[in-house]
Amino acid sequence: MNAPDIVTADPEPHVLHTYARLPMAMSHGQGCWVWDTEGKKYLDGLGGIAVNTLGHAHPKLVPALQEQIGRLIHTSNYYASPLQENLAATLCTLSGMSRVFFCNSGLEANEAALKIARKYGHDKGIARPEVIVYEKAFHGRSIATLSATANPKVHAGFGPLVEGFVRVPLNDVAAITEVANTRPNVVAVFLEVIQGEGGVNAATVDYLQAIRRLCDEHDWLLMLDEVQCGIGRTGKWFAHQWAGIVPDVMPLAKGLGSGVPVGAVVCGPRAASVLQPGNHGTTFGGNPLAMRAGIETLRIMQEDHLLENAAVVGAALRAALERGLAGLAGVVEIRGQGLMLGIELDRPCSELLGRAAAAGLLLSVTADRVVRLVPPLILSATEARQIAAILCPLIQAFLQEPLPS
Ligand SMILES: *Cc1c(COP(=O)(O)O)cnc(C)c1O
Repeated sequence: MNAPDIVTADPEPHVLHTYARLPMAMSHGQGCWVWDTEGKKYLDGLGGIAVNTLGHAHPKLVPALQEQIGRLIHTSNYYASPLQENLAATLCTLSGMSRVFFCNSGLEANEAALKIARKYGHDKGIARPEVIVYEKAFHGRSIATLSATANPKVHAGFGPLVEGFVRVPLNDVAAITEVANTRPNVVAVFLEVIQGEGGVNAATVDYLQAIRRLCDEHDWLLMLDEVQCGIGRTGKWFAHQWAGIVPDVMPLAKGLGSGVPVGAVVCGPRAASVLQPGNHGTTFGGNPLAMRAGIETLRIMQEDHLLENAAVVGAALRAALERGLAGLAGVVEIRGQGLMLGIELDRPCSELLGRAAAAGLLLSVTADRVVRLVPPLILSATEARQIAAILCPLIQAFLQEPLPS
């Protein structure tokens, strides 16, 4: 006989406690709206953390995925894959790069990028290659990618960290030039064009152009983690395109499959032949369902002009937030580009997550004090105004509360 269930406060007693979750469970979605199992409706300002590019239950994506599931979900990477070639060719056209490796997540894409950097170094005779990484960076939760991540909370408990990283501040050309002049084993520079988890901090156009030149001078790989800021979110296909540069390695994931897990590492000519048969692999990566999700996502984005939409509606959302928060002491900065926006407050504000959900808005709080909005790229101008109309009064009320002593 099984013992009767002990009633505890834990609603999910069989799930590892890796997240402090809100209690509502989501039932279904439509466009930029999600309903929970109690029937409460939410405006989705989070997009599954920059994943649901096409929102929920998109009328063009759903039948394509249904057709693909009925045809072929998975076969392994032992056989030729026309769908991989199709998605890879599109990514190369959009980026001006040459070859793609497919995986399943952001950290896997970054892990592959780091392997490329190390082997690139070994191929040049550098036995202990080093990669330049950044303060406030986030690259994932595997041992190597958490080592590349800056946040000490992500490191805590998981040492020893992977070695071979040199950390510099963002947008500081003097600091990276100093590294270039003193560390002969550097092989790559690795950064998010707009830091997501670190609080929506953008590399400047000047800085991106400067490190592109530095990489060329020193024969380093420029590796741009576009896992969060890529796939149209800023109003260009990839955020670095605002600077008119092309990277050597570009990890992608989040928005690429509109919710189906797809990761990719896009490589330019300097990096495209570093990995050879036997050097890297994946069981699930690049499977037909994931590839179809990526192909259809990019196709629908083009057909429905979602880059323009991200730029125009993103600007409208930002303007509405600026109006709604104007003159509020405690709002440090509203920043970001397109539909990747952050509102930095002067104090930790993680309780806004639950309060916004109670008010019918999904969002996230990152880097303790930055409210982050990364909604689906199909967001309408009306929905953008609705986000601001829900969020601004919440922030206003929050900032009027006395600071906890
Ligand atoms: C989310 C994120 C990752 C990690 O992606 P996962 O799919 O969660 O492994 C890596 N880099 C950046 C910039 C991200 O935003």
